[in-house]
Amino acid sequence: MSQETTTINPETLKKHINARRTFAIISHPDAGKTTLTEKLLLYGNAIHLAGSVRARRNQRSATSDWMKMEQERGISITSTVLQFPYKDHVVNLLDTPGHQDFSEDTYRTLTAADCAVMVLDAARGVEEQTLKLFEVCRRRGIPVFTFINKMDRPAQDPLGLLDEVETVLKMQPVPMNWPIGDGDTFMGVYDRKTDEVHLYDRTAHNQTISPEYITTLDDPRIEAGISDFQFEELHLNIGLLDELAEYDHEKFLSGEQTAVYFGSALTNFGVQLFLDDFIKMAPPPSAYPSDQGKIDPVSPGFSGFVFKIQANMDPRHRDSVAFLRICSGRFERNVQVKHPQTGKTLKLSRTYTFFADERAVVDEAYAGDIIGLPGNREFSIGDTISSDGDFSFEPIPRFAAEHYARLINLDVGKQKQFLKGIHQLESEGAMQVLYETDATRRDPILAVVGVLQFEVVQARLENEYNVQTKLEPLPHQLSRWVEGPKEQIDQLPWRYGMMRTEDLDGRLVALFSSAHELSFYSEKYPDIKFLSIQ
Ligand code: GDP
Repeated sequence: MSQETTTINPETLKKHINARRTFAIISHPDAGKTTLTEKLLLYGNAIHLAGSVRARRNQRSATSDWMKMEQERGISITSTVLQFPYKDHVVNLLDTPGHQDFSEDTYRTLTAADCAVMVLDAARGVEEQTLKLFEVCRRRGIPVFTFINKMDRPAQDPLGLLDEVETVLKMQPVPMNWPIGDGDTFMGVYDRKTDEVHLYDRTAHNQTISPEYITTLDDPRIEAGISDFQFEELHLNIGLLDELAEYDHEKFLSGEQTAVYFGSALTNFGVQLFLDDFIKMAPPPSAYPSDQGKIDPVSPGFSGFVFKIQANMDPRHRDSVAFLRICSGRFERNVQVKHPQTGKTLKLSRTYTFFADERAVVDEAYAGDIIGLPGNREFSIGDTISSDGDFSFEPIPRFAAEHYARLINLDVGKQKQFLKGIHQLESEGAMQVLYETDATRRDPILAVVGVLQFEVVQARLENEYNVQTKLEPLPHQLSRWVEGPKEQIDQLPWRYGMMRTEDLDGRLVALFSSAHELSFYSEKYPDIKFLSIQ
């Protein structure tokens, strides 16, 4: 360890780290992620009136072009980290952008989380974006809670929703509670663990904590509040629950089971019950794999990796902030760290935590926490820093691009800045860059997960490198690394529709116009491997 850090009692270190709960909420747009985030903050005492985070989101932006773009689109490009203490725990909520046009950043944020909360709209079930984000969680093997939201609106049958989770996501759903009524008659939930019923009252504009009444299933208010049919169904379903799988903590941690909660983030029903279970069941910081084996979070050496780089957070300073997930030990301001990717030793003296878009200097943080390191242009996505300095964390996976476009520099006199910008943005993970081989055109092809990334790249090239560009969308939908016998590869019908390109490492990449085309050529040329770019 470096001399700059003070020693900490191992038991105290362990206590701090094991109290951390670091997670992200995943959902399809409009399922209620922002609303649930706010309500968790409300119940976590981090805000006093729900609505303030959203309001702040809408207000910010006036300060920079970057933010202006965000405001115009009415979406959140930046992922922020929200930290709040709750019942002897420290909750770190990684906020992921949820708009249709979400980007690779969203996926990468999940690499910094120890578990995820999947929000489903009770009327819609598992939707497309939910599924994509869920697959990233599955690949990482992190546990997933399911919050079935909007029970205060007409909902699908709860058993049907569980069935959908099981068949589509291939996880065993274990309902931890059961809704009482739905739509206008939704009045609360039955908690399986305690056999208690939690009934709630709505509050003005749903802004404050809802009064809660803990009672039992035979409370006459239940029979009076829902229809005879619903009452009968409720008892029938609760009887059936015993025949469903029991919650098994190991199976939950391994992703075999998902713990399911019903509620309504808007009206606050079921939110606290969920949060109370969440802090008990969610795992503390997990060990991250490195080239020296797994790094135990409760080890004395401080270490972490950069999972996101956000440029222009404060345009007055032209700064870019690298977000670091702490993987082990304790961070102390002014710690000396090694950065194996450049071989340099750095002193971390400017470090921040974030709440919405406000930043505060952080002097101390622990494994599981996220800190922001502003102003250091040397960091790239996936970089390791550590006080011991003799290992690197496993690289962050790349995620399959779905959109492709040529980027044309409109001012040939600025070719040098253009290329510098492209390479810098690529190393920050803003997009992937390909070049068409054997072509006279040397305009780079950008490959992205979400189309919004194109705009971000263009805006940043203009703001930071003073380069104007034009985008020429390409019709391709997917790409694969191509490996195999050279003569066969040369025989492939390379043309515009199946474009031959290479990435910045010189690997051959084929762009396909459809999945159908890819499977056709995979079958036709069994000796050629078309590998997913991940
Ligand atoms: P996000 O896109 O997933 O972040 O979704 P939001 O939290 O912005 O919610 C989308 C819309 O659904 C908003 O109009 C919310 O007010 C509404 N909404 C969210 N949760 C609930 C809920 O529990 N019940 C009802 N009725 N509406 C909800």
